[in-house]
Amino acid sequence: MTRVALIAHDEKKSDLIEFAQAHESQLREYDLIATGTTGKRLMEATGLEIERKESGPLGGDLMIGSEVAQNLLDGIVFLRDPLRAQPHEPDISALLRICDVHDTALATNLASAEFLIEGLADR
Ligand code: PGA
Repeated sequence: MTRVALIAHDEKKSDLIEFAQAHESQLREYDLIATGTTGKRLMEATGLEIERKESGPLGGDLMIGSEVAQNLLDGIVFLRDPLRAQPHEPDISALLRICDVHDTALATNLASAEFLIEGLADR
């Protein structure tokens, strides 16, 4: 089954929730994982079943990166806050890097997230 990770920084969580609501039937086709708070918020706002990793600052980004390293993930939607540095920035950079190493699809804004979700449907 296609496996997709969803992550959003605090300022972007409401955008990701709206995105998930708008694409709920498509996302339902995927095996979903998320960082802790993002996953909790998404499950509260949608009917989606999501496997929650640790919260980002506690290592959740690295846990998702580890799935990329194991070739378990098909794509990641990671809505980052471009205006504020995050305390766990090194972990975020590591996740982006491992996606490039493994050529794993990564969307960091809503426009590309749209393509990613639709593109994976055709695989
Ligand atoms: P969160 O983590 O979903 O637990 O807030 C996301 C992040 O900060 O990378």
